[in-house]
Amino acid sequence: MSKAIYRGRFAPSPTGPLHFGSLVAALGSWLEARTHEGEWLLRIEDLDRPREQPGAVAAILKTLEACGLEWDGEPVFQSRRTARYALALKRLESLGSVFPCACSRREIADSTLQAGDEAVYPGTCRKGMPTGRSARSLRACVTDSVIAFDDRVQGRISQSLARDVGDFVIKRAGGFFAYQLAVVVDDGEQGITHVVRGADLLDSTPRQIYLQQLLDYPAPQYAHLPVAVTPTGEKLSKQTLATPIDLERIPVTLMSALAFLGQQAPKALGFATSSEILAWARAHWQLAKVQKSRTGEIPNAADFLPP
Ligand code: GLU
Repeated sequence: MSKAIYRGRFAPSPTGPLHFGSLVAALGSWLEARTHEGEWLLRIEDLDRPREQPGAVAAILKTLEACGLEWDGEPVFQSRRTARYALALKRLESLGSVFPCACSRREIADSTLQAGDEAVYPGTCRKGMPTGRSARSLRACVTDSVIAFDDRVQGRISQSLARDVGDFVIKRAGGFFAYQLAVVVDDGEQGITHVVRGADLLDSTPRQIYLQQLLDYPAPQYAHLPVAVTPTGEKLSKQTLATPIDLERIPVTLMSALAFLGQQAPKALGFATSSEILAWARAHWQLAKVQKSRTGEIPNAADFLPP
């Protein structure tokens, strides 16, 4: 681990090219890292091979480069790190914190009340799988305690894993390691001190802190930025047909992303190049100005065109 006091990262999943929402996360985490004279690492979260889109990795790298968001070192690919995740799994198994689970998503959804978007696992296989069933996934068993942390944007967050989440998957049906385990191992082993990402992951953070505690990794500080939503409140994704960042319109997109993050750039910057806009942003960035909200509406790009 290096001596950097601040080590941040951007961790896109290559399920498609960057859209406005993912650019906001990249820009916010880059600005936080650079204004702390810290490092900014790039991690490609490509564990979900079936959802990966061919060409997405190259498109993401090209967009970040075109925006001037340069990263430190070589990008890390999760698909090449499964041996590390296997070691962490062994460790969790040796602590007695893992059990095999036979339940399908459907069975869980049918036998539980929803908490937020995800069904709370009802504990079916915690004490052993029903006879005749075989393991689909591996789950980490949670304890009754409440996990709390101070998010640098969203404030105090606390969650009872037992009540709000239940025992959660760390190795999925199909043999892929789950995001929750991989992200904890990678943040821990890469020495990440500060995580800045979208607030869609706020509810995952207590699970990650729980795994950090079990695996003896220090907890990074967290800052969860509002997630860009359409005027009807939908998160940008391939399903809502989020448009990829247009490489011909980067300055206006950077201006919109800064406004979304509560940083009021002078209108005159609408005439500027991307590097001038980033220089302004580095000089004026204040995390405290980011809206304390889980979602935010995408600004109208026309407002940032030169008058
Ligand atoms: N790979 C996740 C995503 O693209 C981000 C994970 C993280 O920042 O922890 O939404």
